[in-house]
Amino acid sequence: MKFNKHLEDIKTYEAGKPIELVVREYGIDAKDIVKLASNENPYGCSPLVKNSVSDIVSKMALYPDDSMFKLKAALSAHYEIQDENIIIGSGSDQVIEFAVHAKASLGSKILMNSITFAMYEIYAKHVGAQVIRTSAQEHDLNEFYKLYLEHKPEIIFLCTPNNPTGDAIDAKELFDFISKIDNDTLVVVDGAYMEYSAYKDENKKVQPRELLEKFDNVLYLGTFSKAYGLGGMRVGYGISNSKIIKELYKLRPPFNITTLSLEAATVALRDKEFVNKCIASNFEQMKRYEEFAKEQKIDIIKSYTNFVTLCLNDSQNSSHLSRELLKKGMIVRDLSSYNMNAIRVTIGTKEQNSRFFELFLEII
Ligand SMILES: *Cc1c(COP(=O)(O)O)cnc(C)c1O
Repeated sequence: MKFNKHLEDIKTYEAGKPIELVVREYGIDAKDIVKLASNENPYGCSPLVKNSVSDIVSKMALYPDDSMFKLKAALSAHYEIQDENIIIGSGSDQVIEFAVHAKASLGSKILMNSITFAMYEIYAKHVGAQVIRTSAQEHDLNEFYKLYLEHKPEIIFLCTPNNPTGDAIDAKELFDFISKIDNDTLVVVDGAYMEYSAYKDENKKVQPRELLEKFDNVLYLGTFSKAYGLGGMRVGYGISNSKIIKELYKLRPPFNITTLSLEAATVALRDKEFVNKCIASNFEQMKRYEEFAKEQKIDIIKSYTNFVTLCLNDSQNSSHLSRELLKKGMIVRDLSSYNMNAIRVTIGTKEQNSRFFELFLEII
Protein backbone atom coordinates (compact mmCIF):
# COMPACT_ATOMS: atom_id res chain seq x y z
CA MET A 1 0.00 0.00 0.00
CA LYS A 2 1.28 3.48 -0.81
CA PHE A 3 1.17 6.13 1.89
CA ASN A 4 1.55 9.88 1.90
CA LYS A 5 5.09 10.33 0.60
CA HIS A 6 5.75 13.16 3.05
CA LEU A 7 5.79 10.55 5.79
CA GLU A 8 8.61 8.52 4.23
CA ASP A 9 11.57 10.02 6.05
CA ILE A 10 9.90 10.77 9.38
CA LYS A 11 11.47 9.09 12.36
CA THR A 12 8.69 8.34 14.83
CA TYR A 13 8.95 10.40 18.01
CA GLU A 14 10.64 8.41 20.72
CA ALA A 15 8.99 9.18 24.02
CA GLY A 16 10.76 8.70 27.32
CA LYS A 17 10.38 5.08 28.41
CA PRO A 18 7.51 4.59 30.85
CA ILE A 19 8.14 2.85 34.16
CA GLU A 20 5.80 -0.01 33.16
CA LEU A 21 8.06 -0.90 30.24
CA VAL A 22 11.14 -1.18 32.43
CA VAL A 23 9.18 -3.41 34.80
CA ARG A 24 8.30 -5.71 31.89
CA GLU A 25 11.64 -5.71 30.10
CA TYR A 26 14.05 -5.82 33.01
CA GLY A 27 11.93 -7.44 35.68
CA ILE A 28 12.66 -4.60 38.11
CA ASP A 29 10.12 -3.72 40.77
CA ALA A 30 8.22 -0.52 39.92
CA LYS A 31 9.16 0.95 43.29
CA ASP A 32 12.88 0.59 42.46
CA ILE A 33 12.59 2.46 39.19
CA VAL A 34 13.35 6.16 38.90
CA LYS A 35 12.20 7.99 35.80
CA LEU A 36 14.21 11.11 35.06
CA ALA A 37 13.64 11.06 31.33
CA SER A 38 10.69 13.25 30.43
CA ASN A 39 11.01 16.43 32.50
CA GLU A 40 7.93 15.69 34.58
CA ASN A 41 7.49 17.35 37.97
CA PRO A 42 8.88 14.85 40.51
CA TYR A 43 6.66 16.34 43.22
CA GLY A 44 3.53 15.65 41.17
CA CYS A 45 0.72 18.17 41.00
CA SER A 46 -1.06 20.35 43.52
CA PRO A 47 -3.03 18.41 46.16
CA LEU A 48 -5.97 20.64 45.23
CA VAL A 49 -6.14 18.81 41.89
CA LYS A 50 -6.49 15.41 43.52
CA ASN A 51 -9.43 16.60 45.58
CA SER A 52 -11.27 18.25 42.73
CA VAL A 53 -10.97 15.58 40.05
CA SER A 54 -12.78 12.98 42.15
CA ASP A 55 -15.99 14.97 41.56
CA ILE A 56 -15.60 14.43 37.82
CA VAL A 57 -16.50 10.76 37.99
CA SER A 58 -20.20 11.68 38.01
CA LYS A 59 -19.79 13.71 34.80
CA MET A 60 -18.00 11.11 32.71
CA ALA A 61 -21.00 10.21 30.55
CA LEU A 62 -21.28 13.73 29.17
CA TYR A 63 -19.05 15.32 26.56
CA PRO A 64 -16.70 17.96 27.96
CA ASP A 65 -17.44 21.70 27.80
CA ASP A 66 -16.07 22.31 24.33
CA SER A 67 -15.82 26.05 24.94
CA MET A 68 -13.40 25.25 27.79
CA PHE A 69 -14.83 28.24 29.56
CA LYS A 70 -13.34 27.66 33.02
CA LEU A 71 -9.83 26.86 31.90
CA LYS A 72 -9.76 29.78 29.47
CA ALA A 73 -11.02 32.11 32.20
CA ALA A 74 -8.29 30.84 34.54
CA LEU A 75 -5.60 31.28 31.87
CA SER A 76 -6.78 34.72 30.82
CA ALA A 77 -6.69 35.87 34.45
CA HIS A 78 -3.27 34.29 34.95
CA TYR A 79 -1.74 35.98 31.92
CA GLU A 80 -3.95 39.11 31.88
CA ILE A 81 -5.19 38.42 28.37
CA GLN A 82 -8.55 37.71 26.70
CA ASP A 83 -10.27 34.36 26.04
CA GLU A 84 -10.14 35.06 22.31
CA ASN A 85 -6.34 34.94 22.53
CA ILE A 86 -6.28 31.32 23.73
CA ILE A 87 -6.51 27.88 22.17
CA ILE A 88 -6.23 24.74 24.29
CA GLY A 89 -4.54 21.62 22.93
CA SER A 90 -4.08 18.03 23.99
CA GLY A 91 -0.63 19.03 25.18
CA SER A 92 1.03 22.04 23.58
CA ASP A 93 2.18 19.44 21.10
CA GLN A 94 -1.23 19.55 19.50
CA VAL A 95 -1.04 23.33 19.20
CA ILE A 96 2.29 22.95 17.38
CA GLU A 97 0.50 20.60 15.00
CA PHE A 98 -2.31 23.13 14.44
CA ALA A 99 0.22 25.91 13.80
CA VAL A 100 2.22 23.95 11.25
CA HIS A 101 -0.87 22.70 9.41
CA ALA A 102 -2.40 26.18 9.40
CA LYS A 103 0.62 28.01 8.05
CA ALA A 104 2.80 25.58 6.10
CA SER A 105 2.32 23.27 3.15
CA LEU A 106 4.33 21.49 0.48
CA GLY A 107 7.47 23.52 -0.23
CA SER A 108 7.12 25.85 2.75
CA LYS A 109 10.16 26.53 4.85
CA ILE A 110 10.34 26.24 8.61
CA LEU A 111 13.31 27.62 10.53
CA MET A 112 14.44 26.18 13.85
CA ASN A 113 17.46 25.72 16.07
CA SER A 114 20.10 23.10 15.26
CA ILE A 115 19.17 21.15 18.37
CA THR A 116 15.61 21.55 19.58
CA PHE A 117 12.30 19.85 20.32
CA ALA A 118 11.88 16.96 17.88
CA MET A 119 8.17 17.47 17.20
CA TYR A 120 8.71 20.68 15.19
CA GLU A 121 10.41 18.70 12.45
CA ILE A 122 7.92 15.85 12.53
CA TYR A 123 4.96 18.20 12.02
CA ALA A 124 6.89 20.10 9.35
CA LYS A 125 7.34 16.88 7.44
CA HIS A 126 3.63 16.01 7.68
CA VAL A 127 2.92 18.84 5.30
CA GLY A 128 6.03 18.44 3.16
CA ALA A 129 7.68 21.59 4.47
CA GLN A 130 11.44 22.02 4.31
CA VAL A 131 13.26 22.31 7.63
CA ILE A 132 16.04 24.89 7.87
CA ARG A 133 18.30 24.68 10.89
CA THR A 134 20.88 26.98 12.39
CA SER A 135 24.35 25.59 13.11
CA ALA A 136 25.01 26.93 16.62
CA GLN A 137 24.04 24.67 19.52
CA GLU A 138 22.29 27.44 21.47
CA HIS A 139 19.83 29.84 19.85
CA ASP A 140 21.93 32.43 18.02
CA LEU A 141 19.41 35.05 16.92
CA ASN A 142 21.90 36.68 14.52
CA GLU A 143 22.18 33.41 12.71
CA PHE A 144 18.40 33.01 12.82
CA TYR A 145 18.05 36.45 11.24
CA LYS A 146 20.55 35.67 8.47
CA LEU A 147 18.70 32.45 7.62
CA TYR A 148 15.39 34.27 7.83
CA LEU A 149 16.53 36.82 5.24
CA GLU A 150 17.88 34.10 3.01
CA HIS A 151 14.87 31.75 3.16
CA LYS A 152 11.85 33.85 4.21
CA PRO A 153 10.36 30.90 6.12
CA GLU A 154 6.63 30.52 6.80
CA ILE A 155 7.35 29.64 10.44
CA ILE A 156 10.21 30.26 12.88
CA PHE A 157 10.35 28.10 16.02
CA LEU A 158 12.08 29.54 19.05
CA CYS A 159 12.19 27.26 22.06
CA THR A 160 13.05 29.14 25.23
CA PRO A 161 14.21 27.58 27.43
CA ASN A 162 15.27 25.04 24.86
CA ASN A 163 14.70 21.31 25.09
CA PRO A 164 16.95 19.25 25.23
CA THR A 165 19.76 21.68 26.12
CA GLY A 166 18.16 23.87 28.80
CA ASP A 167 19.56 27.23 27.66
CA ALA A 168 17.29 30.24 27.30
CA ILE A 169 17.06 33.34 25.12
CA ASP A 170 17.22 36.82 26.69
CA ALA A 171 13.74 38.34 26.57
CA LYS A 172 15.03 41.64 25.25
CA GLU A 173 16.96 39.97 22.43
CA LEU A 174 13.89 37.91 21.59
CA PHE A 175 11.71 41.02 21.28
CA ASP A 176 14.34 42.80 19.17
CA PHE A 177 14.55 39.80 16.89
CA ILE A 178 10.80 39.43 16.41
CA SER A 179 10.42 43.13 15.65
CA LYS A 180 12.61 42.60 12.55
CA ILE A 181 10.47 39.74 11.24
CA ASP A 182 7.86 40.38 8.58
CA ASN A 183 4.21 39.98 9.61
CA ASP A 184 3.68 37.10 7.23
CA THR A 185 6.11 34.84 9.08
CA LEU A 186 4.64 33.11 12.11
CA VAL A 187 7.03 33.16 15.07
CA VAL A 188 6.32 30.39 17.55
CA VAL A 189 7.75 30.96 21.03
CA ASP A 190 7.64 27.64 22.87
CA GLY A 191 7.65 28.39 26.60
CA ALA A 192 7.16 24.83 27.89
CA TYR A 193 9.71 25.58 30.64
CA MET A 194 9.06 29.30 31.02
CA GLU A 195 7.93 28.93 34.65
CA TYR A 196 11.45 27.75 35.49
CA SER A 197 13.42 30.34 33.56
CA ALA A 198 11.18 33.17 34.78
CA TYR A 199 11.94 32.09 38.34
CA LYS A 200 15.68 31.79 37.82
CA ASP A 201 16.38 34.93 35.82
CA GLU A 202 14.09 37.90 35.18
CA ASN A 203 15.95 38.54 31.89
CA LYS A 204 14.78 35.21 30.53
CA LYS A 205 11.14 35.77 31.35
CA VAL A 206 8.95 36.19 28.26
CA GLN A 207 5.41 37.31 29.00
CA PRO A 208 2.77 36.31 26.46
CA ARG A 209 0.81 39.49 27.18
CA GLU A 210 3.76 41.61 26.05
CA LEU A 211 4.15 39.51 22.91
CA LEU A 212 0.46 40.08 22.18
CA GLU A 213 0.73 43.81 22.71
CA LYS A 214 3.73 44.19 20.42
CA PHE A 215 3.24 41.64 17.66
CA ASP A 216 0.52 40.22 15.41
CA ASN A 217 2.56 37.27 14.18
CA VAL A 218 3.59 35.47 17.36
CA LEU A 219 2.18 32.29 18.87
CA TYR A 220 3.24 31.59 22.45
CA LEU A 221 3.00 28.01 23.75
CA GLY A 222 2.63 26.84 27.32
CA THR A 223 1.92 23.49 28.94
CA PHE A 224 0.66 21.89 32.13
CA SER A 225 2.96 18.90 31.60
CA LYS A 226 6.09 20.28 33.20
CA ALA A 227 5.98 22.71 36.15
CA TYR A 228 2.30 21.98 36.88
CA GLY A 229 2.92 18.26 37.17
CA LEU A 230 0.12 17.14 34.84
CA GLY A 231 1.99 15.30 32.08
CA GLY A 232 -0.56 12.51 32.13
CA MET A 233 -3.49 14.88 31.64
CA ARG A 234 -2.31 16.23 28.26
CA VAL A 235 -3.15 19.92 28.44
CA GLY A 236 -1.28 22.73 26.72
CA TYR A 237 -2.23 26.03 25.17
CA GLY A 238 -1.40 28.59 22.53
CA ILE A 239 -1.67 32.34 23.03
CA SER A 240 -1.84 34.64 20.05
CA ASN A 241 -3.84 37.39 18.44
CA SER A 242 -7.46 36.46 17.84
CA LYS A 243 -7.09 36.17 14.05
CA ILE A 244 -4.40 33.52 14.36
CA ILE A 245 -6.35 31.71 17.09
CA LYS A 246 -9.40 31.62 14.76
CA GLU A 247 -7.32 29.96 12.06
CA LEU A 248 -5.92 27.38 14.47
CA TYR A 249 -9.46 26.61 15.64
CA LYS A 250 -10.29 25.36 12.14
CA LEU A 251 -7.90 22.46 12.73
CA ARG A 252 -9.04 21.54 16.21
CA PRO A 253 -10.98 18.31 16.63
CA PRO A 254 -14.08 18.73 18.82
CA PHE A 255 -13.73 17.85 22.49
CA ASN A 256 -9.95 17.58 22.22
CA ILE A 257 -9.55 17.92 26.00
CA THR A 258 -11.32 15.62 28.44
CA THR A 259 -13.46 16.89 31.31
CA LEU A 260 -10.96 15.44 33.75
CA SER A 261 -8.01 17.21 32.14
CA LEU A 262 -9.84 20.53 31.93
CA GLU A 263 -10.66 20.36 35.63
CA ALA A 264 -7.15 19.32 36.64
CA ALA A 265 -5.51 22.16 34.68
CA THR A 266 -7.96 24.78 35.95
CA VAL A 267 -7.35 23.84 39.57
CA ALA A 268 -3.58 23.44 39.14
CA LEU A 269 -3.33 27.02 37.93
CA ARG A 270 -4.81 28.23 41.22
CA ASP A 271 -2.12 26.72 43.41
CA LYS A 272 0.73 29.10 42.67
CA GLU A 273 2.35 28.35 46.00
CA PHE A 274 2.72 24.67 45.17
CA VAL A 275 4.31 25.36 41.81
CA ASN A 276 6.68 27.92 43.29
CA LYS A 277 7.77 25.46 45.95
CA CYS A 278 8.47 22.81 43.31
CA ILE A 279 10.49 25.24 41.24
CA ALA A 280 12.53 26.38 44.25
CA SER A 281 13.35 22.75 45.10
CA ASN A 282 14.23 22.14 41.47
CA PHE A 283 16.94 24.80 41.49
CA GLU A 284 18.18 23.70 44.92
CA GLN A 285 18.64 20.20 43.53
CA MET A 286 20.16 21.49 40.30
CA LYS A 287 23.14 22.74 42.31
CA ARG A 288 23.93 19.16 43.23
CA TYR A 289 24.13 18.21 39.54
CA GLU A 290 26.41 21.16 38.90
CA GLU A 291 28.70 20.10 41.73
CA PHE A 292 28.59 16.48 40.61
CA ALA A 293 29.53 17.44 37.06
CA LYS A 294 32.40 19.56 38.33
CA GLU A 295 33.73 16.71 40.48
CA GLN A 296 33.43 14.28 37.57
CA LYS A 297 34.92 16.81 35.12
CA ILE A 298 31.88 16.55 32.87
CA ASP A 299 30.47 19.57 31.03
CA ILE A 300 26.99 20.61 32.09
CA ILE A 301 25.00 23.12 30.04
CA LYS A 302 23.71 26.01 32.12
CA SER A 303 20.03 25.17 32.50
CA TYR A 304 16.93 27.30 33.03
CA THR A 305 14.64 24.27 33.23
CA ASN A 306 13.87 21.19 35.30
CA PHE A 307 16.52 19.09 33.58
CA VAL A 308 20.25 19.16 33.02
CA THR A 309 22.21 18.10 29.99
CA LEU A 310 25.45 16.35 30.84
CA CYS A 311 27.93 16.38 27.96
CA LEU A 312 30.07 13.31 28.50
CA ASN A 313 33.78 12.98 27.95
CA ASP A 314 35.17 11.15 24.92
CA SER A 315 35.91 8.08 27.00
CA GLN A 316 32.22 7.81 27.91
CA ASN A 317 29.38 6.88 25.59
CA SER A 318 25.87 8.24 26.17
CA SER A 319 24.03 5.25 24.66
CA HIS A 320 26.04 2.78 26.69
CA LEU A 321 25.60 4.80 29.87
CA SER A 322 21.83 5.19 29.37
CA ARG A 323 21.46 1.47 28.73
CA GLU A 324 23.43 0.54 31.83
CA LEU A 325 21.43 3.01 33.91
CA LEU A 326 18.23 1.50 32.55
CA LYS A 327 19.26 -1.99 33.62
CA LYS A 328 19.55 -0.60 37.12
CA GLY A 329 16.11 0.98 36.94
CA MET A 330 17.18 4.55 36.18
CA ILE A 331 15.54 6.06 33.08
CA VAL A 332 17.32 9.06 31.53
CA ARG A 333 17.35 10.47 28.02
CA ASP A 334 20.18 9.54 25.68
CA LEU A 335 20.85 12.45 23.31
CA SER A 336 22.83 10.50 20.72
CA SER A 337 19.94 10.92 18.27
CA TYR A 338 20.68 14.67 18.42
CA ASN A 339 24.31 13.88 17.55
CA MET A 340 25.35 14.74 21.08
CA ASN A 341 27.37 12.47 23.34
CA ALA A 342 25.20 13.61 26.19
CA ILE A 343 22.38 12.57 28.45
CA ARG A 344 19.46 14.67 29.61
CA VAL A 345 18.44 14.08 33.19
CA THR A 346 15.25 15.46 34.69
CA ILE A 347 15.94 16.88 38.12
CA GLY A 348 14.13 14.62 40.52
CA THR A 349 13.56 14.67 44.25
CA LYS A 350 16.54 14.70 46.60
CA GLU A 351 16.43 10.89 46.90
CA GLN A 352 16.02 10.29 43.17
CA ASN A 353 18.99 12.52 42.41
CA SER A 354 21.17 10.80 45.00
CA ARG A 355 20.28 7.50 43.38
CA PHE A 356 21.29 8.88 39.99
CA PHE A 357 24.72 9.99 41.28
CA GLU A 358 25.24 6.64 42.95
CA LEU A 359 24.38 4.60 39.84
CA PHE A 360 26.35 6.89 37.55
CA LEU A 361 29.49 6.31 39.65
CA GLU A 362 28.86 2.57 39.71
CA ILE A 363 28.83 2.47 35.92
CA ILE A 364 31.57 4.94 35.03
C1 LIG B 1 7.26 18.96 26.88
C2 LIG B 1 7.37 19.94 25.78
C3 LIG B 1 6.28 20.37 25.01
C4 LIG B 1 4.90 19.85 25.04
O1 LIG B 1 4.48 19.11 26.00
P1 LIG B 1 2.94 18.65 26.05
O2 LIG B 1 3.01 17.59 27.06
O3 LIG B 1 2.55 18.20 24.69
O4 LIG B 1 2.19 19.86 26.48
C5 LIG B 1 6.45 21.33 24.06
N1 LIG B 1 7.64 21.86 23.84
C6 LIG B 1 8.71 21.49 24.54
C7 LIG B 1 9.99 22.14 24.25
C8 LIG B 1 8.63 20.52 25.52
O5 LIG B 1 9.72 20.13 26.16
